[in-house]
Amino acid sequence: MAITTDLSGKTAVITGSNSGIGLGIARELAKAGANVVLNSFTDRKEDHALAEEIADVCGVGARYIKADMSKGAECRQLIEEAGACDILVNNAGIQHVAAIPDFPIEKWDAIIAINLSSAFHTTAAALPMMRAAGWGRVVNIASAHGLTASPYKSAYIAAKHGIVGLTKTTALETAEEPITANAICPGYVLTPLVEAQIPDQMKAHGMDRDTVVREVMLARQPSKDFATVEQLGGTTVFLCSDAAAQITGTTISVDGGWTAL
Ligand code: NAD
Repeated sequence: MAITTDLSGKTAVITGSNSGIGLGIARELAKAGANVVLNSFTDRKEDHALAEEIADVCGVGARYIKADMSKGAECRQLIEEAGACDILVNNAGIQHVAAIPDFPIEKWDAIIAINLSSAFHTTAAALPMMRAAGWGRVVNIASAHGLTASPYKSAYIAAKHGIVGLTKTTALETAEEPITANAICPGYVLTPLVEAQIPDQMKAHGMDRDTVVREVMLARQPSKDFATVEQLGGTTVFLCSDAAAQITGTTISVDGGWTAL
């Protein structure tokens, strides 16, 4: 059988995809031919415009559906409203940094809900559709922090380790079917949010851009280079391709060597 990355006719739902990594993944899946469903919790003109632009550029079906990934019922509703879900990318995520005794309870609850529980709900709603279609791919966007820890990020690290565990269980429950479940573990990725932090970091440390990026922001990333949203999109397309049909229940690090340290 020829190995293909052609995803024509497949529908991909990408949570948290009106910016950053999720949007990058949606664009690469659409370039590979998949119809895409974008999502976030807002319902602005520009959210829908992103879907229209992808449809125009890639010649695929593209829609934006508002759903709040902190609410289980809305996570399940997103998949129902999508109508099909051959590829599920659980990407929505937030961060908060504080020591454990000071960590606000509502931040803990929100991070666990958005970064972890949402993937349980969307997966529960999507697996019956994948089974009915006879094919499926679950791609969970974890983090280098799904495999290692740092201080002051307790909720994020607990959620990201949790999603790696959820990925393994999803893979075992679907192991004998043409469905796979894997987690991508990015290191530091150059998203608009990260880009926007660079001038502040330069000022705070009195360093030029290259030095602050190498020595401060990428201190733990041996490549001393950011991953890009296009690379994460390409990794997702690979996991959806025939070549990856026997890759399931595992993690792929896109972290410039972070977890090799
Ligand atoms: P981002 O803030 O650009 O994207 C997060 C997305 O999630 C946005 O589209 C946002 O609207 C959405 N979102 C937030 N709360 C939501 C909610 N309640 N309901 C629905 N959508 C919601 O950040 P990003 O860097 O692109 O992060 C995307 C994913 O990648 C996250 O899971 C993050 O943990 C992970 N990640 C990012 C990096 C990095 O360096 N940027 C590294 C490792 C992992």
